[in-house]
Amino acid sequence: MDPYRVWLGEVMSQQTTLKVVVPRYRVFLNRLKDVKALAHCPEEELRRLWSGLGYYARARNLKKGAAYIVEELAGQFPSSHEQWRRVPGVGPYTAAAVSSICNREPVACVDGNVIRVISRLASRCKDVWTTSGQEAIRGLAQALVETTARPGDANQALMELGQTACQKSSPTCPSCPLQESCAAFESGVVEQCPPPRPRPQSTPVDLTVVVFLRWDGAAVAIGRREGRFLRALPGFALHEKFPFGGAPSKLVRYRRAAGSFRHTITRHRITASCILGELTPHAKKAGEPELTASLGLERVQWIPVEDIASSLGSSLDTKAWRHCLGAFAELHKR
Ligand code: SF4
Repeated sequence: MDPYRVWLGEVMSQQTTLKVVVPRYRVFLNRLKDVKALAHCPEEELRRLWSGLGYYARARNLKKGAAYIVEELAGQFPSSHEQWRRVPGVGPYTAAAVSSICNREPVACVDGNVIRVISRLASRCKDVWTTSGQEAIRGLAQALVETTARPGDANQALMELGQTACQKSSPTCPSCPLQESCAAFESGVVEQCPPPRPRPQSTPVDLTVVVFLRWDGAAVAIGRREGRFLRALPGFALHEKFPFGGAPSKLVRYRRAAGSFRHTITRHRITASCILGELTPHAKKAGEPELTASLGLERVQWIPVEDIASSLGSSLDTKAWRHCLGAFAELHKR
């Protein structure tokens, strides 16, 4: 098995359905045939190849891992779970999947699907989401892969069972190959096992999105932002505090508020206020560091207004742009 292909397939299929992954996997492999090609792939192209798969941080981590393998391991793939764990961006699940499939190392892959299957097989239901419950499930999964000479197949079979017969609701137990050894089925508690996972509390966050127009009003600034949200994707300036600290800049002025909207990122419930900003003619002569400091954006690109909607990397930016359109039109009536 080619570790590059297995690693790529594992990462792509985490958080994305196979129907979406398969055609994109082929295109990706066709363009980036090996780990060296991935390590040297320009960011823009990587983003294009990843488009539609979501969670772009996965692609960045893949590239980081590929660079490590090329530069630190002279292009040789790790040959054990422990070595895979040292590759930047590779978590325990991916390391277990790749090393069990490629090196036949008996390490269990434990994700939400596997937790459900094991908890039902062992009828260990109630405490499954506690630390001790998770350890117990992990131990049972590990014991299971250790009993076979093909741990990669065992891991894949468990994952597939969780995605097919043993789904969260309406599992198809009558056709399940493990029915005879399933304790939850035997006791008639399948539907209640495991109980829903307690949700982490959501956190409210106030953000200000600033859409900057160039001095001629014909283009809009996008770039990399600082802060904790959407750092990897090009978009508008995002600030948790507004007005920002520091001395006022002669390069920008804030023109008008353009409404607010709600958005959710993981457990953050965001209320985003949109502001239209404008660059002053002084900005024409400003260098990149000065512009970065004034706009709160790095690697600024000026996108023509008519192309901006198709250049945005996140749904938060798309919503912000929609909110700004009215204020933008009003500004240009004058
Ligand atoms: S018998 Fe039902 S609950 Fe048990 S493993 Fe199979 S599908 Fe899951």
